[in-house]
Amino acid sequence: MSKISWREPIVEMQGDEMTRVLWDKIKEILLEPYLKLNTEFYDLSLVERERTKDEVTHRAAAAIKKHGVGVKCATITPNAQRVEEYKLSKMWASPNGTIRAALDGTVFRSPILVNGITPYVPGWKKPITVARHAYGDVYKNKEIVVDGEAKAELVVTKKNGEQIRETIFDFDGGGITQGLYNTDKSIVAFARSCFNYALDMKNDVWFATKDTISKLYDGRFKALFAETFEEYRDRFEKEGLKYEYSLIDDSVARVMRSEGGFIWALKNYDGDVMSDMVATAFGSLAMMTSVLVSPDGCFEYEAAHGTVTRHYYKYLKGETTSTNSVATIFAWSGALKKRAQTENNKELSDFAERLEKATTGCIADGFMTGDLIGIYGGANKPVKLDSFAFLEKIASRM
Ligand code: NAP
Ligand code: MG
Repeated sequence: MSKISWREPIVEMQGDEMTRVLWDKIKEILLEPYLKLNTEFYDLSLVERERTKDEVTHRAAAAIKKHGVGVKCATITPNAQRVEEYKLSKMWASPNGTIRAALDGTVFRSPILVNGITPYVPGWKKPITVARHAYGDVYKNKEIVVDGEAKAELVVTKKNGEQIRETIFDFDGGGITQGLYNTDKSIVAFARSCFNYALDMKNDVWFATKDTISKLYDGRFKALFAETFEEYRDRFEKEGLKYEYSLIDDSVARVMRSEGGFIWALKNYDGDVMSDMVATAFGSLAMMTSVLVSPDGCFEYEAAHGTVTRHYYKYLKGETTSTNSVATIFAWSGALKKRAQTENNKELSDFAERLEKATTGCIADGFMTGDLIGIYGGANKPVKLDSFAFLEKIASRM
């Protein structure tokens, strides 16, 4: 059998710990037997980031911009403990943060649905994809504690020195105040990423804020979304897709009653909170994919979970692990499908489809990793497999 290939490389980013181990195994038994893997390889392991002074991350980000499609393994975001553990010369920035900033991208998180694993909200039949605007707002706020009688003001000083001033509150005792910002550029980029991804996934977009209360701030988001949608209206109509704006509280109520199958675009804080709720309700973080989409249409696929450190240390001690590789497999199938789409390569999209079916079919039939056993409600008695036996089982169904 001749192996399937494609013309323009996919940017492959290897990572850390348990997911790094699984990455190699996935390539060895699920991909390389069938594909001539045309990838441009970047090792984003912490060791390599230290060796290159993090230049490798910047080169990988530039490569995604160039080739348009990337697939990334989970990586360690260094903290003080990691600086010690890896003898780092610096607490390097989060690779995901670096890549997201370089691409000006938005992260979309979607659950992988499997027969036998019922969401906690039984009405949800299709994935709900949460798009979080990961820029500004309360994450970049400035806060001041007020410890007595005081006047809090919001002041904007223009380049020419002219000032705009609003009283926030006249305090007659202790309290607290904060200032927030966002930029038109970032909001429009977010809107474009949402509309691009919606066309790609053939999903409607629901966007929600609280513009009845925050008339100018949230009102700006609403207006810029509406304005940006005009660039997409024709393409949405052609595909039979819709863009809908609603108030956040109304939106939450409608999401609960919905059957899923749409992109839920949310401001930074709402997206932070709601993505955890949606992920939990669909079962497990290990069954969530994450796609970074840039406003100019570059796509980077990865699992939503981390490097599963606890399992890795068991693995290093020679103990058996049962780590779920589904989201990492779907990161690969997502990137392959995207490349199949850009090159109109049916053989490749059929392969990616087959890989996904072999994976979800395995779980539906009762073969899974430990994290899913407790939430499986399918027809068969569930069998817990170790990290590698699970991958072998998928390979046997290819
Ligand atoms: P994590 O790797 O997501 O794991 C947290 C826990 O969730 C695990 O200990 C495990 O629970 C469960 N889990 C997550 N993924 C699983 C899987 N595929 N199969 C089975 N169980 C799974 O988060 P973390 O331990 O907080 O972070 C570890 C490292 O990952 C950190 O260095 C962090 O910086 C990095 N990280 C990277 C990314 C990324 O690259 N996108 C994202 C998040 C975190 P049990 O131990 O109970 O089995
Ligand atoms: Mg959160």
